[in-house]
Amino acid sequence: MSETLFEKIIQKEIPADIVYEDELSIVIKDIHPQAPIHLLIIPKKVIPKLSDASIEEQEILGHLMLVAGKVAEQLNLDNTFRIIINNGAKAGQSVFHLHLHLLSGRTLSWPPG
Ligand code: 5GP
Repeated sequence: MSETLFEKIIQKEIPADIVYEDELSIVIKDIHPQAPIHLLIIPKKVIPKLSDASIEEQEILGHLMLVAGKVAEQLNLDNTFRIIINNGAKAGQSVFHLHLHLLSGRTLSWPPG
């Protein structure tokens, strides 16, 4: 299978604005931000979408949530942010390598579009 866009970013084959990185994950700025703060929290292990994850990925999934909280704290987001996972093309997923969107820096209305 060909490498996903995010694998190329993880391998540093293509550039990205990296905000945080550890052994399991990388956090980058979204290239088309939908809010003043728009980050992508990406596992280094390729899981195409959330519904493909299994019990083996339980630790990674939990880790991504904790990274979201850690990065939000580091960026002083005042405990105010939204996490979104688009699962499947009809839900807006365009890159099939699991990622969490972290949005912050403006009022976020509900329900989302
Ligand atoms: P999805 O639509 O799959 O939920 O989210 C994919 C996200 O990746 C989009 O918000 C899109 O703007 C972002 N994106 C697409 N290409 C690039 C890129 O080359 N670099 C970065 N940093 N983000 C990208």
